[in-house]
Formats: sequence, structure tokens, C-alpha cells
Amino acid sequence: MQYHTPGNFEDAVSIAAKADGVTRFLAGGTDVLVQLRADIVTPDVLIDIKKIDGVKDIAREGGGWRIGVAVTGAEMSEHSELEAEWPGLVEAMDLIGSTQVQGRATLVGNLCNGSPAADSVPAMFAAGASVSIIGPNGSRKVAVADIPTGPGRTSLEKDEAITAVHIPARGKNGGDAYLRFIPRTEMDIAVVGCGVNLRVDGDTISEARVSLGAVAPTVLLVQAAADAIIGTSLDDAAMDALAAAASAACNPIDDKRGTIKFRTHVAGVLARRAAKIAYDRARASK
Ligand SMILES: Cc1cc2nc3c(=O)[nH]c(=O)nc-3n(C[C@H](O)[C@H](O)[C@H](O)COP(=O)(O)OP(=O)(O)OC[C@H]3O[C@@H](n4cnc5c(N)ncnc54)[C@H](O)[C@@H]3O)c2cc1C
Repeated sequence: MQYHTPGNFEDAVSIAAKADGVTRFLAGGTDVLVQLRADIVTPDVLIDIKKIDGVKDIAREGGGWRIGVAVTGAEMSEHSELEAEWPGLVEAMDLIGSTQVQGRATLVGNLCNGSPAADSVPAMFAAGASVSIIGPNGSRKVAVADIPTGPGRTSLEKDEAITAVHIPARGKNGGDAYLRFIPRTEMDIAVVGCGVNLRVDGDTISEARVSLGAVAPTVLLVQAAADAIIGTSLDDAAMDALAAAASAACNPIDDKRGTIKFRTHVAGVLARRAAKIAYDRARASK
């Protein structure tokens, strides 16, 4: 196995472009190294991106945030300004693993591992986050919602790397939330996850994004669920319509963690609860 520690992203993708066999970028390694040790994926080429300048930075960018690709969940939780603006995103990341895993795991690793149950991904979908990607032909910015393409698959080419995550400006009167259901109290994979991000004008919801994890081959952005609550004050009828739209979007698997019927029902329950938290946060932020 070759192990590389490039000093910039251009070198990182050039190594990836020339590599033969299985290539992996190494951020926190909490997926890559676990898969390696379990003989699930043995990379021929491992490209550690943690020596690249700026990858550990959380910085202001156009009123929003630029989060480096090696920033860990623990570092996000300790960033009080980011947490105050995007509590749902930070909480989603904070749900990942144990204290030890928190000291390594990154947003980009969670996204690029391609799990439909990845906890930070619904929160990033709901936030309207995007990523910068570099490849041999240059750079581009892509919505996070366009990255996952199936279980374990993304729209990135083998010789492309993500260089940063961009979180939009919070703006006035906004709030987000992420909730998941797991069969035990911690350290398990989401049976269902739900992210909600919304803005209010007075008591009325003026903008909303609703996302679901672990109920389809990829994380879903559910426009019908957002439409069900936009223009409402999250009254009972809006909550019922939201839950129905969330459940209707589900196309889950049946496994030991939850049946199709259970996941479909829980998607509606979590959508209601996450929407209520996001709504209360948005109104409190006035
Ligand atoms: C004990 C344990 C508990 C866990 N619990 C959870 C949980 O509750 N919820 C959850 O969602 N996940 C969980 N995970 C999975 C894992 O911790 C997360 O997916 C984590 O966010 C991965 O980030 P990482 O930086 O460690 O990724 P890595 O393992 O370094 O990389 C993961 C993937 O991302 C790719 N990658 C990394 N950086 C880049 C880049 N810059 N550009 C392109 N591709 C890149 C790699 O090639 C690889 O395919 C758990 C893992 C463990 C070991």
C-alpha cells in the first residue's frame, strides 16, 4: 500500500489521477481505517489530506461559513459561533460515534463514505450546504445534495477531492434541527434521520428545507414536506401534512434495525419533532 501526505490539493488529486487500484483519501479515517482493518476495503493508495494548509479551519465566508475538510466533530461542537447559528448541523455531527470518534470524524468523510444513514448529511442537505471540488480539470462548487448517488457511491470522480464545505449565511429568523432514531441510546446507525431548516416571518414559515436519512438509497431532500409547512404557523394541519409528506417520500429497506412500516412511520414522527425545534429556534432568534 502507498501512503501519501501531499501539501496541497493539486498534488493530492494528481496522485489520485495516477493511482492504480483502490484509492482513498484519508481524513479522520473512522470509516477508511475501520474498513481496512475489517478487510472490507483495502486501499492500494491512501492519500492523507490532513497536512494541507487550511483543512483544519472554520472561517467566515460571505456571512456564512467555510469548514475545512479535516475539521472534526469535536472542533465543530467547540465553535460557539457556528453552533449558535447552525445548532442542527453541529448536533448532527455530534451524534457521530464516541468521544474518540468525535476527535477524528469529519463532515466530508461522512458525506463521501456514501452511507444513506450518515448523520451529518441530512443536516447539510437541510442547510443548503455546498462543497468545493478539485480535479485534474479544475475546481467546481456543487450542492451537497448532488453528491450522494447510492449506498457507498458519490458523484465524485476517483481523481476528485473535496476542498471545503460551505454553509450559507444564517440570515435573520432562521433555525435548524436534526433528529435521528436509533434502537439504543448511542453508538448506533440511524434507523431514520431528519433535518429541518426554516425561516419565519412573524409566526409564519417563509422558507423551509426538509431532509430524510436512512429511508432510501440516498439521503433525500423532500420538497413536498417543505411545501407542507411553508406559509403556515406549524399548526396541527401543517404538522399532519408534513408528516404525511415525509412518510410518503420513504423508500426504505427492511432490516434488523427497522421494518419498512416502522421507518416510514418514524420519518413522519421525526419530521414533526425536528420542525418544531427548528421553528422554536427560528422564532427565538428574532
Ligand atoms: C465507532 C464508530 C461509530 C460511528 N458512528 C457513526 C454515527 O453515529 N453516525 C454516522 O453517520 N457515522 C458514524 N460512524 C462513521 C464515521 O465515523 C463517519 O462517517 C465519519 O464522519 C467519517 O469521517 P472521517 O473523516 O473519519 O472519514 P474517512 O474515514 O477519513 O473517509 C471516509 C470516506 O470519505 C472519503 N474522503 C475523505 N475526505 C475526502 C475529501 N476531502 N474528498 C473526497 N473524499 C474524501 C474517503 O476516501 C473515504 O471514502 C461511526 C464510525 C465508528 C468507527
